[in-house]
Amino acid sequence: MARYHGPNCKLCRRERQKLFLKGTRCTSSKCPVEKRNYPPGQHGQSRRTKISEYGVQLREKQKVRKIYGIGERQFRLYFEKASRQKGMTGVNLVKLLERRFDNTLYRLGMAPSRKAARQLILHRHFLVNGKPVNIPSYLLAPGDVIQVVQGSRGLDVIHSTMKRMRDGQLPPWLTLDKANLTGTFSSIPERVDIPLQANEQLIVELYSK
Ligand code: SF4
Repeated sequence: MARYHGPNCKLCRRERQKLFLKGTRCTSSKCPVEKRNYPPGQHGQSRRTKISEYGVQLREKQKVRKIYGIGERQFRLYFEKASRQKGMTGVNLVKLLERRFDNTLYRLGMAPSRKAARQLILHRHFLVNGKPVNIPSYLLAPGDVIQVVQGSRGLDVIHSTMKRMRDGQLPPWLTLDKANLTGTFSSIPERVDIPLQANEQLIVELYSK
């Protein structure tokens, strides 16, 4: 499936929830979900509110997919990988998504959004364990160290985002050395620590049909 290039805010309004796709705007009063929390389009406000069980499961899957910025096919592949792992498939799925390189940069506060993180990675601004990695979906393992490449250390987007990062916002599975622009993926996150408002069990039910 082709990547979505339309307005990000429409995706949030479709899910009636903030998906934090646009960096600083998402935490400002300009966020459209604050003002118009109904689906976009002419019939957005009048659309029937009762949806089927299948509809609920589908919306949950679409929501998680949009949050992490992943296409249908790749999301399905993550699900299949998660189902082959030990433990609960839904939890495994969320843990896999959290291990993505673009997501980790966003969580570290080195990029204002996952989309911006993807752009920075594709432009080769980061190293993983001393080697350049330009694959946003690269899965990090415990102990992996992320660094900004020497020539990109002055990038304003990285500094301004890190500056805005509040104390206590860093997830417990990551460590950040602001002075050296270095982050470490210390361990696989626990589901309780992952700030994702979603019921992954609904996705498991959807794919198990
Ligand atoms: Fe979603 Fe951010 Fe747009 Fe708000 S500003 S609707 S959270 S993308």
